[in-house]
Amino acid sequence: MTLNVASETTRAALRALPLRCRNCGREHEAAPTAICEDCLGPLEPLYPAQRSLPDRATIAARPRSLWRYREWLPFEGDPIHSLDTGVTPLLEAPRLAKRLGIARAWVKNDSVSHPSLSFKDRVVAAAINAAAAFGIETIGCASTGNLANAVAAHAARAGLEAWIFIPHDLEAGKIIGTSIYGPRLVRVRGTYDDVNRLCAQVADRFGWGVVNVNLRSYYGEGSKTMAYEIAEQLGWRLPSAVIAPMAGGSLVTKLRKGFAEFLDAELVDGAVPRIYGAQASGCAPIVRLVERGGTELVPEVPNTIARSIAIGNPADGRYAAQTIRDSGGWAAHVSDEALVEGIRILAEDVGVFTETAGGTTVAAALAFASQGHLRADDELVLCITGHGLKTVEAVAGVLPEAPTIDPKLREVVALVQQSSH
Ligand SMILES: *Cc1c(COP(=O)(O)O)cnc(C)c1O
Ligand SMILES: [Zn+2]
Repeated sequence: MTLNVASETTRAALRALPLRCRNCGREHEAAPTAICEDCLGPLEPLYPAQRSLPDRATIAARPRSLWRYREWLPFEGDPIHSLDTGVTPLLEAPRLAKRLGIARAWVKNDSVSHPSLSFKDRVVAAAINAAAAFGIETIGCASTGNLANAVAAHAARAGLEAWIFIPHDLEAGKIIGTSIYGPRLVRVRGTYDDVNRLCAQVADRFGWGVVNVNLRSYYGEGSKTMAYEIAEQLGWRLPSAVIAPMAGGSLVTKLRKGFAEFLDAELVDGAVPRIYGAQASGCAPIVRLVERGGTELVPEVPNTIARSIAIGNPADGRYAAQTIRDSGGWAAHVSDEALVEGIRILAEDVGVFTETAGGTTVAAALAFASQGHLRADDELVLCITGHGLKTVEAVAGVLPEAPTIDPKLREVVALVQQSSH
């Protein structure tokens, strides 16, 4: 394996934490490796047990980015890239709460995440700093769209080369929203799962930092910052339930880990929220595992417009199902029609335009409400993870056509009269 090595000064400033296998517990040096060589289990960063943690006031006084929680991110020293990602709005949604029959609801609005308009900015902020710590100067990813946008944007700002692999037939917004930053973008004839397999070989062959393959142990930790922000933005307390969309299954597991870490640090009290997972019916291997029970995930061939979450063989699927069940939550899959309706409901009730994954989350929330999973006193956060302008084709066909008129007052008068009938 060949690595491009950056300057010693860079490496002295920022170090990645060592890793430990989630399965067998074996400890490994910090490295661009995500899989245990003994048992093939996933590696996770190992945080120093006795490190000193900040209190609420210290965190609150820090700059408004996800690095305000840096003691829970897998580095020692100062991060050097993506310093402005994180701290997206948490927006109360009373009309949505009413529709769901619950006490209160909020939208955690990562559709306006900086810089690439999806929650993937959080994981890439972590991964690109891991790449820097290892002196890797070319990063890459296997992506369903949003990760491609994020890797391309973050690499451009950092001055790193990026090789990005996607299924050939993604939405125009995802392809253009990647190409614009000037990466090497490669469209692969196959599903995301084919792309992912190819990227595992690519990472080995070229020594690149493929953010969700060999840098995955560091990458995933970025997702926890969504949980920290929810806790801080609610005034240092936890909601009773959280709903998030699932692709590889990482986000739901990291939300739970993040809430648990804030409870451990006594920054909040109470209990870890019930975690609910959402997928589209055309690709719902994690939901079906939750429903079936056990630990054997059955891979699927995706067939849904929710491309950003269409992973047929999710890397963290088993852990996601376990997390959901342990937390007392549940999982639901929704049809493409229902998720399009979910996009419209979020726009009309909350004024937030989300992509297909967000529509899936809203539609699943409605399903949980009608199935009796939500309680009248629930305080629910919906994780809205990507922007609607990235997948306009999902809704273009279902919206009313706007009238076209001449610039004459009488034409407007006619329209106003019609609409008041
Ligand atoms: C990637 C993605 C997810 C889910 O991420 P996982 O951690 O892989 O489960 C959710 N929403 C959007 C918009 C995404 O791009
Ligand atoms: Zn192991």
